[in-house]
Amino acid sequence: MKAKNLFCNECKKKYPLKDFLTCECGGILEVEYNYTSENIKKLDKKSMWDYFNYLPIDNSKNIISLGEGLTPLIKLNNLSKKIEINELFVKNESCNPTASFKDRPVSTGISKAKELGKNKIITASSGNAAASVAAYSAKAGMLCKVVVPEKTPNEKLKQIKAYGAEIVRVKGDYSNSYDYAIKESEQNGFYNLTTTYLNPYSVEGDKTVAYELFEELGLPEYIFVPVGAGPLLHGILKGYKELMKLKKVHKLPKMVAVQPEKCAPIVEAFDKDKKSVKEWQHDPDTIASGINDPLRGYKNNGTLTLKSIYESNGYAIKLSDKKIIESVELLAQNEGIYAEPAGAVGIGATINMVRNNIINTDDKVVIMVTGHGLKNAGSLN
Ligand SMILES: *Cc1c(COP(=O)(O)O)cnc(C)c1O
Ligand SMILES: [Zn+2]
Repeated sequence: MKAKNLFCNECKKKYPLKDFLTCECGGILEVEYNYTSENIKKLDKKSMWDYFNYLPIDNSKNIISLGEGLTPLIKLNNLSKKIEINELFVKNESCNPTASFKDRPVSTGISKAKELGKNKIITASSGNAAASVAAYSAKAGMLCKVVVPEKTPNEKLKQIKAYGAEIVRVKGDYSNSYDYAIKESEQNGFYNLTTTYLNPYSVEGDKTVAYELFEELGLPEYIFVPVGAGPLLHGILKGYKELMKLKKVHKLPKMVAVQPEKCAPIVEAFDKDKKSVKEWQHDPDTIASGINDPLRGYKNNGTLTLKSIYESNGYAIKLSDKKIIESVELLAQNEGIYAEPAGAVGIGATINMVRNNIINTDDKVVIMVTGHGLKNAGSLN
């Protein structure tokens, strides 16, 4: 399977595989492949780069890897009894090199940056993507600037500093950081590795989750994903859609987006049966840093995620901060998995859907745990 071009999700215009970030119409770009049916080739079983043949890098010499992906899939034997689901799993993304799933999109994005001859990287992030970009830039020997919202937890800032990146703290929430990074990349030649949908190559890293899940357990009925703008959810579905084109699966898993009540623009649109997502007008003041993105100035990101949810016959669920803290505790106390608040929301959402009789006892359910508890332990005190 070979990457052939970028295409625009809105106007369908095609572009070569170069450093275009958005379509001239403002639409989101995505990588398209020649979908030739072939076996999934394993390279070294050391990272998600096992799936090199399904990723948009031409020369494997350009791969910047810290051993990301191939994360553990863990059966929740204790919680599955309590929640009354027979096959309940966690894909534990906190086992990635910088302790969140962001290492997948960042490894892909920075490898493409290297292939395109870039050496200065910028990213806007609520914390985890910044830590990841800082680490991978260090490994690649590239200059790195990260733009974070003022309120970013201290532990995350310490981690970013440790990798030697320059930190710019911007007043306001994530959307302000997002704008700042775009300006800086346009004015000063930084390559923008912001892991929303802005960089079309980074979503390709997210999709490797689908390839791994497919090999580990085939086709689950439900995949629960914590969602900010939603590229992880969209990427996992893209992976399963590719597996369908390759005739490996015959249908898609139902994708469930989970957002905090205090910042739930995608859930709001879903609940009202809307075709598009609106910007979040309230203060995104939630314990779940990492999924507190109001989408101001790029609500089309939310709309693309909403489309993926509809396309998979999925759902969008919101949780109060109280339920989010409960989710962290349930996971840690029953299964020994310590997730950060944003990373644990799938637990509470699964419980909701079982109580509402949407999920049945025999449905196979995967919960994405996206980040490690040590990332912002301070928030739980
Ligand atoms: C970034 C992040 C998310 C949200 O992922 P998106 O695909 O960007 O919406 C969820 N959980 C954690 C821990 C994150 O860092
Ligand atoms: Zn377009």
